[in-house]
Amino acid sequence: MPALSADTLTLPRLAAFATRTDWRSVQKIVTAHRQLEGEGFVVRRPFPSPELSLADPFLLLDHMGAVEYGPGEAKGAPWHPHRGFETVTYMLDGAFEHKDSTGGGGLLTDGATQWMTAGAGILHSELPPQEFVDKGGLFHGVQLWVNLPASRKWTPARYQDINAGDVRLISSPDGGALIRLIAGSLDRYVGPGSTFTPITYLHATIARGARLDLPWPADFNALVYALSGQGHVGEFGQPLAEGQLAVFGTGTALTIRAADAQPSYARGWDVLVLGGLPIREPVARYGPFVMNTRAEIIEAIEDFQAGRLGQTVVPHHTAADLDPITPADRIGRRGR
Ligand code: MN
Repeated sequence: MPALSADTLTLPRLAAFATRTDWRSVQKIVTAHRQLEGEGFVVRRPFPSPELSLADPFLLLDHMGAVEYGPGEAKGAPWHPHRGFETVTYMLDGAFEHKDSTGGGGLLTDGATQWMTAGAGILHSELPPQEFVDKGGLFHGVQLWVNLPASRKWTPARYQDINAGDVRLISSPDGGALIRLIAGSLDRYVGPGSTFTPITYLHATIARGARLDLPWPADFNALVYALSGQGHVGEFGQPLAEGQLAVFGTGTALTIRAADAQPSYARGWDVLVLGGLPIREPVARYGPFVMNTRAEIIEAIEDFQAGRLGQTVVPHHTAADLDPITPADRIGRRGR
């Protein structure tokens, strides 16, 4: 997993914890289900799911791979619309090329993050570059959807491209964990991603047997997702395996520990740690649109059909591709 590596002994460190800490307990462990997306690639999705429909302010987490594609096998998500939230794509291995209806685009590769605020609306495509499709290779990434409050849903679409080198690197006090802070703040450090909804989002690699304690804002929710390997979460050490998400309760800090045994290819236990300030507003969602009311969803579909979310050069999808409206929680195959 290249993402980004560094010698933790040379990095700034988190402060050590006082002996008395208000640790958050583990409320729930959710095992991601597998789902087909875009042109037919498999993602692991811990939410939305029957066990966890929403992790306010987060709407969706898709874990893509890790998968070793053969020549011609790599797939992506061709042109599709979004409105009402932000998509955050973090690429650990392989590459995604994106294009959008504003004429923007770029290449997202090892350790980089693309932050797209769909806001009032955009059309985009997310595809592996042709060279990667031709050759094949290791592909591993994550897409997170962050909701926007009603007051921000109509903000103009924008991108933030965060290069691997921009991510804030921090070490745990004993050097056993490397933290890549992508967005928000942690202790006295600040990550590069700028968000409408306050969140903290990081990728940590924790050495075999090492423990990672993180201060966490009391008003944020707190989630830990295992990208690979095995570990334990919370004071009581509940096991968390690859593809599982731990949902924490209230408190001011999180504790997690890597198991002594990890996959042979891994440098440690790889986890995402994320949390944000809950928006606490009604959520109406249908595929790629996330609004507050059903009427706003119908408006989004009409706007898309009328071309008001933008135009693509080569539209792969037409209005006829959208399924009829189904229950609010449904996320269809074109739901990215
Ligand atoms: Mn998308």
